[in-house]
Amino acid sequence: MKKKLNILIAFAMVLMLSSYGQEKYNIVQKGGDGMAPRAIDFDAAQNGAKKSSFSSPEIFMSEHFDKVPGQGVIISEVVKDELGFTHYRLQQSINGIPVESSMYLIHVKNGQVTSANGEWFTATPAKSFAKSSTLSSAQALQKAKDVIKAKQYVWEARAPRANNKTFRGEKVSSEGELVYITKNNAMNANALRLAYKFDMYSVEPFGRKEVFVDASNGEILFIEEKIHHVDGTTDTGYYGPQNITVTQNGGRYEMRQSGDRKLALYDMQGAQLQVNATGTAILEPTNTRSIYSSQTKDFRIGGEQNHRTAAYWGAEKTWDMFKNEFNRSSYDNRGSNINIYVNGAGRYGDDNAFWSGTWMYYGNTRQLQGTPVTALDVVGHEMVHGVTQESGAMVYQGESGALNESYSDMFGSLVEYYTFNKVVDAKVWKLADKHPDPRLKRDLSNPKQHNQPDTYRGTNWVSTAQGSADNGGVHTNSGVMNHWFYIVSQGAKGSNDNGTAYDVEGIGIEKAGKIAYRSLTNYLTRSSKYADARNAVINAAKDLYGANSCEIKVVTNAMNAVGVGAKFTGNANCDGGGGDCSAVSGVAASNITKNGATINWNAVTGISTYTFEYKKAADASYTTSSVTGTSKTLDGLTVDTAYEVRLKYACTNGETAPYSTVIRFTTATDGGGGDCNAVTGVNSSNITINSATVSWTGISGVSNYTFEYKKAADASYTTSTVSGATTNLTGLAANTKYEARVKYTCSTDGGTDPCAGVPAYQAGNPYQVGDKVTYQGYLYEKTATSWKNLGQCGTTGGNQIDAPYSAVISFTTLEDTNGNNCDTIPEYQPGNTYSIGDKVKYFGTIYELTARGWIVIGSCDSAFFASAFGSNLNNATGFNVYPNPASKDLNISFKSLDNVSQIRIVNILGKVVYNKEVKSTLGNNTIKVDVSGLNPGIYFVKRGNQDVKKVIIK
Ligand SMILES: [Zn+2]
Repeated sequence: MKKKLNILIAFAMVLMLSSYGQEKYNIVQKGGDGMAPRAIDFDAAQNGAKKSSFSSPEIFMSEHFDKVPGQGVIISEVVKDELGFTHYRLQQSINGIPVESSMYLIHVKNGQVTSANGEWFTATPAKSFAKSSTLSSAQALQKAKDVIKAKQYVWEARAPRANNKTFRGEKVSSEGELVYITKNNAMNANALRLAYKFDMYSVEPFGRKEVFVDASNGEILFIEEKIHHVDGTTDTGYYGPQNITVTQNGGRYEMRQSGDRKLALYDMQGAQLQVNATGTAILEPTNTRSIYSSQTKDFRIGGEQNHRTAAYWGAEKTWDMFKNEFNRSSYDNRGSNINIYVNGAGRYGDDNAFWSGTWMYYGNTRQLQGTPVTALDVVGHEMVHGVTQESGAMVYQGESGALNESYSDMFGSLVEYYTFNKVVDAKVWKLADKHPDPRLKRDLSNPKQHNQPDTYRGTNWVSTAQGSADNGGVHTNSGVMNHWFYIVSQGAKGSNDNGTAYDVEGIGIEKAGKIAYRSLTNYLTRSSKYADARNAVINAAKDLYGANSCEIKVVTNAMNAVGVGAKFTGNANCDGGGGDCSAVSGVAASNITKNGATINWNAVTGISTYTFEYKKAADASYTTSSVTGTSKTLDGLTVDTAYEVRLKYACTNGETAPYSTVIRFTTATDGGGGDCNAVTGVNSSNITINSATVSWTGISGVSNYTFEYKKAADASYTTSTVSGATTNLTGLAANTKYEARVKYTCSTDGGTDPCAGVPAYQAGNPYQVGDKVTYQGYLYEKTATSWKNLGQCGTTGGNQIDAPYSAVISFTTLEDTNGNNCDTIPEYQPGNTYSIGDKVKYFGTIYELTARGWIVIGSCDSAFFASAFGSNLNNATGFNVYPNPASKDLNISFKSLDNVSQIRIVNILGKVVYNKEVKSTLGNNTIKVDVSGLNPGIYFVKRGNQDVKKVIIK
């Protein structure tokens, strides 16, 4: 009776639930045929009445979803988090056999279920799956071997007795495990089959795949890749000396630690990855390893080894990031030891890096002419595969595989950020940017840069079908989620491949990371696709920041921006009235000189003052200043030096915006095009009544100068272009003060030579897409079909700017005491009456009427005198006579290279009236000659045969 009564009550409950069940939750996303909704929630704003008190996972599942016959609920994980949530991770079983394709998560807070999501079968697909196998495990194994085609498997490589064994906690076996799985991982009940699951861990060739064989007809239902290859590296040994933790062992130190971190680095010393020294195949290369050790705690290993030990340092940094930022201990959150192997050889040991399930391997990449693939972002990437394996465990195929890859990329970027001074620069978003293999390159800020899609099913999206390349494009379609992460962090504005316009605020990489981590560890499931990832990140943002938070708006709109789902429609507000708290964008350097630059950036609405920070790229700390406006001019910078700049600001909601992407510029170099300093050494010489020479110190690499002169009394300069460092001025006014100055156009190295470091094209080389070469002075990039011309080599793109003016010099032309300015002197007229002092021109010679009659005082043609004296009257550099006119003491100054100078005074008729050798010294000399005994008239003072000056004796 009692039993009958229970059945009746249960029956009544079923009736009640079937009447009201559909109203007990909101369906966020429907499930496939015969499956529970992929996502439901209970606290949507539009219907706060929907609640579900929680007592147990089993009761929740049976109360809310139809039950398939023979169903069991396996609780595979219970996690309590710091926000007060408890997350139950469930797996379904049918007839006691686990359903491989099922995973459901229930999220509970304060005794209420907030949401649930995953894959769960609710209908019995009567005809589509068997309850017991018809094939034996051995028969099914042969089917699996037929597709893997390995020469040797793990269980074959060991002693024949061991058909079941355990390696470092991992069970490996040739026995198939009976599971239910859907064909090709299709999430509908009609595809559900009973299958054998084989761990096809092979030694030759090295590989590991799970193969699911239909237990009735031997059909291969699904193959999942278990080895996750590298897909990112940067310069690894290039981080320079870094602190690591090592262990003292006797008199030596070893690269291992077992405290807060449990890591060890082993050198395979060139051994084949999959075979030990005696030729016996192994799993983890325990027989060929040697721990990295040193006689001192400072490991000065040198050469390529430095790159290998970078894996150890990178693992520390990644471990620390998960511990410090996400409160996760090791990949499995149980603090498990991670062994790292480097320097293996052979087909599978060279061009390779991967997470094995419990250990990591990094090859030398000799086949790619590279360095060991131990860059920080690679190590981070691989360790995150371990985190993923222990949480969402997204199937490494198609969309779920792309998400699996993307989460590794995202955390690869994050570990760079947390390690390198928490700076978001362009490098943070780039993975493998210096690796020669273009297939490894990623750019989260611009996935299309490396042929990844930035829009769901947009340009560059590749087939996700079972059997298509790269496990259904896991390393390609990851670009969509990668770009979502970038947009959430930095914000973005534009339109995607679908033409959807977006304008998303950024919330910074740290919040983006927290949301990503929570989505990975609490919401994603084995078969999650992009639509599920959208739900996952929205749930994570809601948990962390609230249903009406800016963050939930940003993650939703960023998903919309990459083509996944609709825009956010709630009330969340990001800006709080001024400044949306997204990072400053459009930061750029211009007017770059040897010691200055101008930085501009886009204005943030409502923000007028920014925190401006700059430093030498090589320095650790920034110089900070407050700037009003959107521009800052830097001066006093060091020549030919890389600088970095970033900005942030205080948002009006009281928070601080994330830093802008760090930009880098290099000040101009010395030589070749002028140093942009002012011309020096400007001097006047050869000053006559109407001419002068101005010269200056030439600048290396500069041939043309802008020369300017004017009368001192005038306002504006006369400008001319002068080749060389000297110019002769003619047509000047006599006895007039002139001013002159010089400048030039200098060429700065605003850009760098795009061809620097790029190899020349070599005919016959097997180039790959993305390879760059130089050819006949141009830069080319290999495309799928040809070579693309990327432009000319060289640094001609530098800025052309004016150097400052030289100091202004002044000089005064000689007084026209001779009156030999022919323009102002009338021609002699025979009939005229002249007075004493009158001057006339007569056949090119100038005469003055004196008491003694007409005397020659000059010539309209200075060449007349030049020829007469065998030298050029206007070519008396540094030679001067004064006063002029003179009556007694005539000073003669000159520059001399000789110990003796001959000074002569010659009258207008060519008669020498004074002739003396005087002692002179190197440089400036002045001698004094008494001319009071000479008759008044015109004389010429000569020094040697070079210098001639005209002088009037009164
Ligand atoms: Zn990967």
